Amino acid sequence: MTISARPIHQEDTVDYAEALERYEPVMGLEVHVELNTATKMFCGCATGFGADPNTQTCPVCLGLPGALPVVNKAAVESAIRIGLALNCQIAPWCRFARKNYFYPDMPKNFQTSQYDEPIAFDGWLEVEVPASEAGEAFTYRVEIERAHMEEDTGKSTHVGGATGRIHGADYSLVDFNRAGIPLIEIVTKPLTGAGDRAPEVAKAYVAALRDLLKALDVSEVKMEQGNVRCDANVSLMPKGSDTFGTRTETKNVNSLRSVERAVRYEITRHAAILDAGEKVFQETRHWHEDTGITTAGRPKSDADDYRYFPEPDLVPVAPSPEDVERLRGTLPEPPAQRRKRLQEEWGYSDLEMRDVVNAGAVEVIEETVAAGASPAAARKWWTGDLARRANTDGVAVTELGVTPAHIAELDGLVREGRLNDSMARQVMEGVVAGEGGPTQVADARGLELVQDDGALQAAVDKVIAANPDVVEKIQGGKVQAAGALIGQVMKEMRGQADAAKARELILATLGVEG
Ligand code: ADP
Ligand code: MG
Ligand code: ZN
Repeated sequence: MTISARPIHQEDTVDYAEALERYEPVMGLEVHVELNTATKMFCGCATGFGADPNTQTCPVCLGLPGALPVVNKAAVESAIRIGLALNCQIAPWCRFARKNYFYPDMPKNFQTSQYDEPIAFDGWLEVEVPASEAGEAFTYRVEIERAHMEEDTGKSTHVGGATGRIHGADYSLVDFNRAGIPLIEIVTKPLTGAGDRAPEVAKAYVAALRDLLKALDVSEVKMEQGNVRCDANVSLMPKGSDTFGTRTETKNVNSLRSVERAVRYEITRHAAILDAGEKVFQETRHWHEDTGITTAGRPKSDADDYRYFPEPDLVPVAPSPEDVERLRGTLPEPPAQRRKRLQEEWGYSDLEMRDVVNAGAVEVIEETVAAGASPAAARKWWTGDLARRANTDGVAVTELGVTPAHIAELDGLVREGRLNDSMARQVMEGVVAGEGGPTQVADARGLELVQDDGALQAAVDKVIAANPDVVEKIQGGKVQAAGALIGQVMKEMRGQADAAKARELILATLGVEG
């Protein structure tokens, strides 16, 4: 039996820039989000990750005869909040549907999903696409087709083969702990007009969606653990045409970088097929992170017939307008807006804010400023010394045992003149080493700027007397030569002096204007 006639040259690609001269890409992004509810979509089983196989199951999620599902209210509320945050309409009445197909890790032989009656539809999300080699930053409005509720499948493990895939395996194991975990699938309308920036739009959209889901606190949003998975549909049409080409659907892309790369790769592959006068084969594709290519999955026609029909064992979901408005009241400030507001409040430059966002330090800086530190000090610690330390130790910056209150306390010690910068660093080392809070560490290590001006003046006099050549330079107008003297004064004071004060005193003693 021949399932498909594959074009022989389908794995050729053309140069990306060349492809974009002749074709306009169209994308459709389907994102599956695993919710963070305590229990499953249709039963009371726990959803925790990492439990022993098949310990979080019951007759409902195992699909045993006669078992009756009940909808998880918390999951429906999360779905509505996601829909509202995506500017969608919320259906006043909708049903679940059975999507019928066989797969060994799906014990009911159908997935309970939604079909033509999604809980949320017709929305949009404005996405900021950052500047890149390809051009300026810009805003792209992603139109959302729908967001619907469904359940996850179980997990198969294929044992014995070299690849971990079913082909070549000796036997397969199935774990149903994941079966029935609530999923929301968010589907975009076809995205057009992004031109050569299409792969960047795809990445920026998934990133913006992830930030939004995190702010909503509806999912763990760990892409590497599969909490957020993206299927990327791509097609090309000749420039000037408005008839969409045949799409391919690259499945389960699970990092932001991969979303961009997979879309880019498919554009170059489709272009080669169309250039050769051949037809793109409508199918799913597998993304290969290591080689950066996709390979054929299964043929997929738009007419695939899952024999959808309304789920007879579940009552319809009918949120009242009051419920919807109550949930709208729980929406967080949109992440992009929040970042802009905080940047202004903190007085950071665009570059500084980008570093803070990339370091994932927005929340911790917010807490640190709230605890009383200056925004500048909060940024310096969390994206500087502490970030480096966390990186070396291979932990998150928030796992170093340093709290926002510690930073605020340390910043206070610097501002009241007890510590200079290098002393503050030593104190921080002590805090990271578990020696206690900043004041405690400073006390224990005897770190304190010498406030006794007499001692500082004596050190200044001694250094001036020992360096007549430098003194001559300074008095001849080379004020920057004072740096050498400051260094020596600091040494005399065993580091426990305020460098700015030492400089002032040196110049005053020499009768030179700073
Ligand atoms: P499927 O059942 O195949 O997953 P969906 O409707 O769930 O279908 O998702 C298809 C996605 O592909 C949607 O985001 C849709 O906007 C997009 N899409 C549809 N046609 C095309 C096309 N010709 N090129 C690119 N994307 C497309
Ligand atoms: Mg789909
Ligand atoms: Zn169960």
